[in-house]
Amino acid sequence: MAENEMEETQEKKGLNFVEQMVYDDLQAGKNGGRLNTRFPPEPNGYLHIGHAKAICMDFGVAEKFGGTCNLRFDDTNPVKEDVEYVDSIREDIHWLGFDWGDREYYASDYFPQLYDLAVRMIKEGKAYVDDQTSEQIAQQKGTPTTPGVESPYRSRSVEENLDLFHRMNAGEFDEGARVLRAKIDMTSDNMHFRDPIMYRIIKHPHHRTGTKWNVYPMYDFAHGQSDYFEGVTHSICTLEFVPHRPLYEYFVKELADETYCPRQIEFNRLNLTYTVMSKRKLLQLVKEGLVAGWDDPRMPTISGMRRRGFTPRSIRNFIDKIGYTKYEALNSVSLLEHAVREDLNAVSTRVMAVVNPVKLIIANYPEDKVEMVDMENNPEDPTAGTHSMPFSREIYIEREDFMENPPKKFFRLAPEGEVRLKGAYIVKCTGVKKNENGDIEEIYCTYDPDTRSGLPGSMRKVKGTLHWVSARHAIDATARMYDRLFDVENPAAETDKDFRELLNPDSLKVVTGIKVEPYLAENARPLEHFQFQRVGYFTPDKESTADNLIFNRTIALKDSWEKAQKK
Ligand code: ATP
Ligand code: MG
Repeated sequence: MAENEMEETQEKKGLNFVEQMVYDDLQAGKNGGRLNTRFPPEPNGYLHIGHAKAICMDFGVAEKFGGTCNLRFDDTNPVKEDVEYVDSIREDIHWLGFDWGDREYYASDYFPQLYDLAVRMIKEGKAYVDDQTSEQIAQQKGTPTTPGVESPYRSRSVEENLDLFHRMNAGEFDEGARVLRAKIDMTSDNMHFRDPIMYRIIKHPHHRTGTKWNVYPMYDFAHGQSDYFEGVTHSICTLEFVPHRPLYEYFVKELADETYCPRQIEFNRLNLTYTVMSKRKLLQLVKEGLVAGWDDPRMPTISGMRRRGFTPRSIRNFIDKIGYTKYEALNSVSLLEHAVREDLNAVSTRVMAVVNPVKLIIANYPEDKVEMVDMENNPEDPTAGTHSMPFSREIYIEREDFMENPPKKFFRLAPEGEVRLKGAYIVKCTGVKKNENGDIEEIYCTYDPDTRSGLPGSMRKVKGTLHWVSARHAIDATARMYDRLFDVENPAAETDKDFRELLNPDSLKVVTGIKVEPYLAENARPLEHFQFQRVGYFTPDKESTADNLIFNRTIALKDSWEKAQKK
């Protein structure tokens, strides 16, 4: 990108602090003017909305300044990793709208070079094999205010270290029997410099390299070097890696020179109210069957949000809005929900569905008559067109839309009262039929034939408009009503409780026998977005078929939680 063009971008858009640093490096001609970022997920779980924030940064900054972004699987721990996760991660990044082209890499691709580097460091007296247990090593680490203690194995000869390290990898020793450590400084102010572990023994087959290796590099020894091997210029990560940065630089300098050296930059993680984001906890929810899998629509995973009916654009808009800073914060999930409503309002098809139906019979409407009425698909989108919906003598309306003894400001249907049936006629209630328990079974009305849209009487004003479906034509469907998975604001802060005790017992209610308009039998395909008028946004579940329609409630039309909190 030309210099003046870049300046213009900066002025127009306002750069966040990471973009500013990248921009400054490009201006200064660092790394020969190249820009290459990477997104480095560990394939030990599905991606969540926090990862989306990192993805938008890593891919976004590359896009903005004409660079590239690699996808690198950080697969250094075979015990927890799996190809299922690799596949899901690819799918989720694409769905969010980003692409890594042919730059798909794996930390495991670099195991040979990393091993060679470790051997070189041993030869140069910069690494040693420690025979102590991890507990002993942890005990000797010291505290931020007291220095650590040197391992009794620290001064082993180069020959002995080389021999032991090779034998560690040959599989001669048990897991935990020995580690390779960097020989740096047990008195350093930075705890990460107190002879950090570079390699440990793991005897679990790896999903890509099989049983080739018996030693696996630690994150700190693998990450910076992998960045270097790939030519990454800016290694953008979250704030908890700030104290690791000196070690990142220490190891990278074993390889890099002043013509090319990757740079680590940190931003604040995404934390959301009413949500847990730890992959360990999410895995536990899945494993223990507390949710229906990683893509359960209540999960904060990308796949869960997709199944629930969130759009990629709403997620990106939300991330844009909260921005990137250097301070940890807890963001309100209402902001995300607001972004979802805003986008769904723009893109979803309006349909009629009655969730809690009661029958309404129009006594003066001919028994066999069916009229087709036109329904606007989306008033927000002039190109969306219309679809038609049958009207007949017997229809369903929501039970809540009728009251026998209504309070003053009830603008829906009541005895002797009038309402408009959306897109059709004005009806007047003439009576009801009750069962022996006193529950209303049927509502009787008469209609005014002159009030259909297009006819003169259509201008007549009544206070309420109801949604409805023709009873004869309605299709039965199931609605899964999702709510927040946790009912405390900050589950991570409730450290005295097991997080599973904080689950919202009402996070899923399944409602069967809802009545939907026949249009949906043909048109309700998984992942499409519908607004059930006056009810909420719904998306057909992946299990939904034309014969068995199942809808996930993406979100209610209005934020009832916010209202409840303001009370
Ligand atoms: P863990 O290391 O505990 O398995 P992780 O969430 O760090 O979990 P990774 O797969 O290592 O998982 O994350 C990949 C990238 O996503 C990292 O660069 C990480 O900083 C970033 N990331 C993870 N969680 C968040 C979050 N909540 N907000 C922003 N970025 C995140
Ligand atoms: Mg991580």
